[in-house]
Amino acid sequence: MSVITTTRVRPADYGTLDHLLYTAQNVYREPPDEHERLGWLVDAVEHHIAGSPLYARLAAARQFDAMRLRETGDLSQVPLVSSGLFKRVAVATDTSGQVRLCTSSGTMGAKSVVARDDRTLERFVGSILNGMRQFFGESELRKGFVFGPDPEEAGDLWFAYAISLAEMFNGGEHFVVDGEFRVAEALEALVSAPADVQPVIITPPSLLMELFEWMQGRGEIVAFAHPEPLVITAGGWKRDATEAVDRAELERLGGELLGIGPGCFRDLYNMVELNTLVLECAHATKHVPPWLHVDARRTSDLQPLESGEMGLLAFLDPTPLSYPGFILSEDLGSVSRRCCACGITGEVLSLERRLKGIEERGCGLKMSRYGQGVTDQ
Ligand SMILES: [Zn+2]
Repeated sequence: MSVITTTRVRPADYGTLDHLLYTAQNVYREPPDEHERLGWLVDAVEHHIAGSPLYARLAAARQFDAMRLRETGDLSQVPLVSSGLFKRVAVATDTSGQVRLCTSSGTMGAKSVVARDDRTLERFVGSILNGMRQFFGESELRKGFVFGPDPEEAGDLWFAYAISLAEMFNGGEHFVVDGEFRVAEALEALVSAPADVQPVIITPPSLLMELFEWMQGRGEIVAFAHPEPLVITAGGWKRDATEAVDRAELERLGGELLGIGPGCFRDLYNMVELNTLVLECAHATKHVPPWLHVDARRTSDLQPLESGEMGLLAFLDPTPLSYPGFILSEDLGSVSRRCCACGITGEVLSLERRLKGIEERGCGLKMSRYGQGVTDQ
């Protein structure tokens, strides 16, 4: 995969959703306009019914009625696609453009394959930039240090590709080369970062832990020239089939060995089927972006649960055009409305750590294998 093209013509159907993604400021601080979001979701459902025979069949089986959804606003009516379906069949909506087939790693099962056309990828990037403006501020000079491969080596592997987009931080350096984590080079680059550039480490938890263990083994403690280095973790919190990475321990070691403050660790949530990043504020709260609807579903009948109740997470994402973004995930979590210490009042996502899943989703695990020089299966 190549990185997103730099110049583009504004599409004729650039609408209010694109405006919110690309241009609007402080979108998390305003309460979401639920009427507007409902409109985007109904439009998206109609688009996917028209362009995807598979989704049309799902909708027909559910006796889905777009008019009724518009009237009632009952989002539990939106037909969901289980994330497992992307492993078995092509779930795509015809947009008559070129698509990239983005894959999960599939270390313990078949790979999910998600078709993204240019506008769908651009909207994903829009969601990253939008969240960065909100949670990291806009003005500062930053540099990304990616414990992952560059976009070319990442290929179609979605997780590696998504974190390789750190090039947006005024250029990024990548420290997984030929499937191997170059830990000494990474540390050398980090300590050499100039004081006026904010370093942003983007990493699966497993490789950050590997760096810390490597430093401990050599008795190394270093300090950044910049006072507020950031760490963005992404992917699963597993090192291998049995061992988990503990976030509190990771933050403790980050403070001890690299002088990184606790508010500077941000975990982000994404999966290959979701076209939006869910980012954390400095208070470790995952704020749901205003264009996305998330709820937890009861496992027995998939009915939406009350605020704070734990269930299977369902995402209604109006941003993808080349596949239906109405995903029943395999992840457990809850959604609640909360007034966060960062000043944002709105829906927040809490995840049950993905440790005991029926099937390891694979992305974090695949990345941890880079550390051991194991190639993809
Ligand atoms: Zn917050």
